[in-house]
Amino acid sequence: MKQHPSLMVILLALVGLGFCAALSRGLYLEETESITQEFRADVTQLTTAFEREVLLNLEILFALKTSVGMMPEMNAELFGRLTRPILERTPAIKALAWAPVVKQEDRTGFEQRQQSWYPGFVLTEESATAGAVPSKEPPWLVPVQFIEPIADNRPAMGFDLSSENKRRTALLTARTTGRMVATAAIELVQERNHQKGLLVFAPLYRGASDTTPKDREMRHYGFLNGVFRVGELVNQSIPTAIDSNILIQVVDRTEADPDVIYSTGRSSDERWLRSLIHEVPLAPIAGRHWVIQAMPGKTFVSARRGYLPSLVIGFGFFFITLLVFFAVRSLRQNAELNTAKHELERMSLTDSLTGLANRRHFDLYLEQEWLRALRQSQPISMVMLDVDYFKAFNDAYGHPGGDQCLKQVAQVLEQVVRRPTDLVARYGGEEFALILPDTQDAAAVAEACRVAIQALGIVHEFSDVAQEITISAGVCSLVPTRELSPELLILQADNALYEAKEAGRNQVFQPAGAQRPCSCPSNEEPTP
Ligand code: GH3
Ligand code: MG
Ligand code: MG
Repeated sequence: MKQHPSLMVILLALVGLGFCAALSRGLYLEETESITQEFRADVTQLTTAFEREVLLNLEILFALKTSVGMMPEMNAELFGRLTRPILERTPAIKALAWAPVVKQEDRTGFEQRQQSWYPGFVLTEESATAGAVPSKEPPWLVPVQFIEPIADNRPAMGFDLSSENKRRTALLTARTTGRMVATAAIELVQERNHQKGLLVFAPLYRGASDTTPKDREMRHYGFLNGVFRVGELVNQSIPTAIDSNILIQVVDRTEADPDVIYSTGRSSDERWLRSLIHEVPLAPIAGRHWVIQAMPGKTFVSARRGYLPSLVIGFGFFFITLLVFFAVRSLRQNAELNTAKHELERMSLTDSLTGLANRRHFDLYLEQEWLRALRQSQPISMVMLDVDYFKAFNDAYGHPGGDQCLKQVAQVLEQVVRRPTDLVARYGGEEFALILPDTQDAAAVAEACRVAIQALGIVHEFSDVAQEITISAGVCSLVPTRELSPELLILQADNALYEAKEAGRNQVFQPAGAQRPCSCPSNEEPTP
């Protein structure tokens, strides 16, 4: 990773972005959860309000039943006086009806009596084509005798409630239990959008009612019926402003197939979030099990969302991008600085003309290799090389020619001296030096250099030893000890070079007895 700092930056940026995304998602989910809780609390509150409204309306029917129970002999005028004020004040009650139990044998008499109040009155029953085949049991009818408001409900007048299966079941249950019993919701034909209504039967008994089912049957004489508009019950209890934000449905779950009795909107609409659907049951409504089913609209959720999750991801992204930008820039600057530093280091150790190690490099390397040889008690050799009659070469071919010659000599030296631990340096002017650690036969290396340089064939007409450029070399090898120093090695190699020059040039000189490395150097001046 240290070698790839940019990879590290990318990795850190990815981790940072991942962290921001996770944080933002966490905040988003927490927000969703709190909105869901708020929505559910709203639905529970609405359900309570609706439940109270329904039960209140049923109480009105119950109160009316108690009143009419005291006057079994009902007539149209009395029924109108009793029910009209209630209907005017209670928009959720669509109709109130009085339906006595009429024995089959009294059927004609009942019909004639009714015709005296309502000319043209006729007893009707559910037709077989409408789905229900009326049973002959029980042997009585429950015709609607009085109904208010009469204007809206004229067709219902004379309809035998027991002629339809569902209604008859409800009537019998009400009769036996003494409780108010509702049928499944029915479509209210005259209403807007054919909205559904609730038909509730309240049984009427002669005398006291706290008796057995058998006794109740004996004393039972009719029903008070209430038809309730479910939509109106919703409107009365739930603020209309809710419509745009929450879809509310009243669902009857009494039977296996749930029946949607009322809906404030189209549930298939795109704007409702079906995933957040919530259901709250109501207390039994005249024996029926209703629930309020609600779905929040997208606007309900969006209006409650804050900016925090988006801000976290936005700012996170922004700052990480900024950090990456600065990190990459500083890395690039660092890399440039490093390159410059390495170049400077290289330049400070390199000779600009020949490209060889310079004198400084030579000194540092000698120090380092000297200490290594000292530690390991290994020999170290030095060869000093000098171009013969170079002054004359310069004088004859000019300085640029001399420079070119030095470059070529340097190249040859590098080609001959190839061991990685060897160093070829330009010692100064036309003098070169080789540091050869752990080398047994340094003189052979020096000789190879001499031969190779002469073989270059750089013409030197003014040399006294050859027709071409040649070198002289002095060799010294020794095993370092604490008493000796690197300077001594240089000095002895230099002395040997002097010897080579004196002996006629174009040759290698190694002091006699020093053909093999030794640790007992001589400080004597070389003999000319
Ligand atoms: P000897 O055989 O005794 O070594 O004789 P020499 O002429 O080679 O020795 P001397 O020390 O008299 O002359 C060395 C010459 O090398 C003198 C100088 O002009 C030349 N020289 C030194 N450095 C450079 C350089 O970088 N470029 C060129 N062209 N010449 C150089
Ligand atoms: Mg010289
Ligand atoms: Mg020279």
